[in-house]
Amino acid sequence: MRKFFVSMSFQDKEIKYVTGVGPKRAELLKKEFNVSTAKQMLYVFPYKYIDRSRFYKIREIEDSETFVQIIGQVTSLHIDERGKHRQLKGLFTDGRDTVELIWFSGIDYVKLQAGVTYLLFGKPTLFNHGWSFAHPELQPLDKVNLQKIQGLEPYYNTSGEMKNSYLNTKQIRKIMETILPDVEKQGLDETLAQDLIDKYHLMSLTESILNIHFPKNTPLLQKAKERLKFEELFYIQLQILKQSRLARLQTVGYRMPIVGRAFNGFYFNRLPFALTNAQKRVIREIQTDMKSGKQMNRLLQGDVGSGKTLVALMCCLLAKDNGFQSSIMAPTEILATQHYETFRSMLGEMPVRVELLTGSTTKKKRETLLADLRQGLIDILIGTHALIEDTVQFGNLGLVVIDEQHRFGVAQRAKLWSKNQNPPHVLVMTATPIPRTLAMTVYGDLSVSVIDELPPGRKPITTMHYSQLRRQSVNQFIAKEVAAGRQVYVVYPLIEEGKKSDLADLENGFRYMCEQFPTMNISMVHGKMRAADKDEQMRLFAEGKTQILVATTVIEVGVNVPNATVMIVENAERFGLSQLHQLRGRVGRGADKSYCLLLTKVEISKETRQRMDIMVATNDGFRIAEADLQLRGPGDMEGTQQSGLPFELHIASLSTDGQILEVARQAAEEILENDPELQSAQNKVYADQLKTMKKTVVNWGEIS
Ligand code: ADP
Ligand code: MG
Repeated sequence: MRKFFVSMSFQDKEIKYVTGVGPKRAELLKKEFNVSTAKQMLYVFPYKYIDRSRFYKIREIEDSETFVQIIGQVTSLHIDERGKHRQLKGLFTDGRDTVELIWFSGIDYVKLQAGVTYLLFGKPTLFNHGWSFAHPELQPLDKVNLQKIQGLEPYYNTSGEMKNSYLNTKQIRKIMETILPDVEKQGLDETLAQDLIDKYHLMSLTESILNIHFPKNTPLLQKAKERLKFEELFYIQLQILKQSRLARLQTVGYRMPIVGRAFNGFYFNRLPFALTNAQKRVIREIQTDMKSGKQMNRLLQGDVGSGKTLVALMCCLLAKDNGFQSSIMAPTEILATQHYETFRSMLGEMPVRVELLTGSTTKKKRETLLADLRQGLIDILIGTHALIEDTVQFGNLGLVVIDEQHRFGVAQRAKLWSKNQNPPHVLVMTATPIPRTLAMTVYGDLSVSVIDELPPGRKPITTMHYSQLRRQSVNQFIAKEVAAGRQVYVVYPLIEEGKKSDLADLENGFRYMCEQFPTMNISMVHGKMRAADKDEQMRLFAEGKTQILVATTVIEVGVNVPNATVMIVENAERFGLSQLHQLRGRVGRGADKSYCLLLTKVEISKETRQRMDIMVATNDGFRIAEADLQLRGPGDMEGTQQSGLPFELHIASLSTDGQILEVARQAAEEILENDPELQSAQNKVYADQLKTMKKTVVNWGEIS
C-alpha cells in the first residue's frame, strides 16, 4: 500500500483528487472528455488562443473576429427601454476614440463606475459605422494581475452541462494551472523514440504539453502543435501499416496468372476503341495483383466518364481465363442493368455468360440463375444488393467488383465477402475521388489505382452558376439545345423518406417544364416510383423519345446518355460538391459541347458561394474532393459517411495537415521496414503505445 503511494506519479492521479475538481466535476469530465486521470486531462487541448500580450487602441481595431483588450474609461451608461427588450448601453473611451458597450441580459449585475480605469476585453462588431462590444469583460485595471494575463490565453470547449456546473473555460484553465507545474517538475514519459524526435526536429512531449496549454509565444505554440499532430498521425499510420503488413502475409489469394482466350479475344477482336494509357496502366496493375498469389484489395479511382466499366469487364475476363467467376455489385438497379447491357453488347457473341440478378428478377428466372451459378456455369453475375443474400452461392468466385463504393455499407460488403472459402480478389471502383490524405489514413495499405485521363475527344463541360431569378435565360438555353437535337437533365435534391416537400418541388418542377415547353416530351423519375415505371421513363429518355428528364438524384450514378448535353441542378445549394460533380458527369459523354447549370437561391451563404465557384472553376474531380474536404471536413465526406472515420482525431486535421501526415507515414514505414513486429529495444516505446490504443483500424480486406 505504502509503496503504491510512493511510486505513483501525478500522472496517474485520479482527476477528482486534483485541486478544484472534486467528484461532481470529475464525473462530468469523464462523461464529456472521457478523462479520469490528471494525465488524460492534459490531452484536453484548447480549441483557440487569445493573445493577451497586446493592448489595443480603439483606432487599431481591424476586424470583428478577434478578441481585443483596451484600457480606458466608461463615459456613459443607461438602460434603453424603447425596443421590445431592455438593453444596457454604454460608451467606453481610450482617451481618443469611443466604442459602444451593450448588454442584452444580466443588466442588473453590471456594476461600472465613472472615473475608474478599466481593462476591457471582448470581441468587437461593426455597428453603425463604429465598433460595438456585446457583453464585454470589464475589470478595474488596478485589480488585474497584468503579469498573469500576458501571453496566449487558452480556450477550451465546454458543454452546456459543464457550464451549469461552473466548469467553464476559466475553470478548466485553473485545473491545468494546477497540473502543469508537476509536468514541468517531473516531466512526462516520452512517447516517441529520441532518434525520431531528433530526425524530425520535434519538440519533446513535456514541452509540447506545457506549450499547448499555456504557450509562451506563437512559434512555441506552433512547434507544440506540430509535435502533437505528428504523434497522433504517426501512431495511426503505424497501427494501420503494421496490421496490413501482417494481413498481407497471411491472406492467400487465388493465383490467376493466365492471360487467355477471353481477355485476348476481347482485346484484339471486340474492343471498340483504343484503351487510354491510364486504362492500360490500371489493368496491368490489377493483373499483377491477381497473379501474385495474394489477395487483391484495390481501390480504382477514376473520374466520371473515365472508363472504369471497361476496366472491370476486362478484369472479369482475366478471372474467366483462370477458371473463376466474377461478380459486379452496383448500387442501383438502373446501374446494374446498364452494366449488364454494356457487358452484353461489348462481349457480343463471345462465349462468356453474363447474367443479371436484381430485386426484380422473377422467381423462376432467379431459381435457374442460382442453380447455374452454383455449378459455375455463369461467368459474370451483375447485380444489386440482391447479390448479398444468403441464397446466392457461387461455384468458384474469384473476383468481386464493387461499383461506386460509397453506396455500400460495411456490413453489406462483409456479407459478400463470406461467399467464399478463400477471399476473392476485390476491386472497388469509385468516381468520388478520395483525397490522398484521407485514403492514406482511412484505408492505410489499400492499393490505389487511378485513371487520370479521360478517353480522347471529350470536351470539357462548361459550368455556370445562376440564381433562380435568371430562370428565363436558363429556359432559353434549354430551348436552344433541344432545338439542336440534344437532351436535357433537370435534377432536384433527393427525395428523402418522409420529406413531402422534396417530392412537391420535383412535381412542381415537372409541371413548370411542361408549361414552358409544351411541344417537348418530358420524363420524370424519382426514387419513390415503382421500378418498372422508373425504368420505362429512363428508357424513353435514353432512346431520345423524351427531350427533358426531370429527376432526383436517382440518376446520379451511371446513367449514360451521350446525346444529353445540359445538366441543370435545381437548389444546387443543397448538394455536396462531390454529388454535383457526379451529376455533372452525366453530360459531356458524346461529341457535343456540354453544359452544367447550377441554380441556387439569390441569397446564399459564403460557403455555398465557394462551392459554386469551385464547380465553375474546375472539372477535376480530385481538386473538387480536396476542396470538399477543406470546406466540410472529413466527417461529411461522401466517401466516408457510411463507414465513418475509424478513429477520432484530437488535434490533427485531415484537410490541413496533409504534409505532416505524409511525413508521419514515411516515419512509420521506415520503422516497420526494419522491425515489422516492433520487437527491438529501441522500438519498445512504439509497441507499448500501440497496446494502449483502441483498435482503430478497419481491416479493408475484411470489409470489402
Ligand atoms: P465511368 O468511369 O464513369 O464508369 P464509363 O465506364 O461509363 O465511365 O465510360 C464512359 C464512356 O466512355 C462509355 O460510353 C465508354 O464506352 C466510353 N469509353 C471507355 N473507355 C474508352 C476509351 N478508351 N475510348 C473511348 N471511349 C471510352
Ligand atoms: Mg461507372
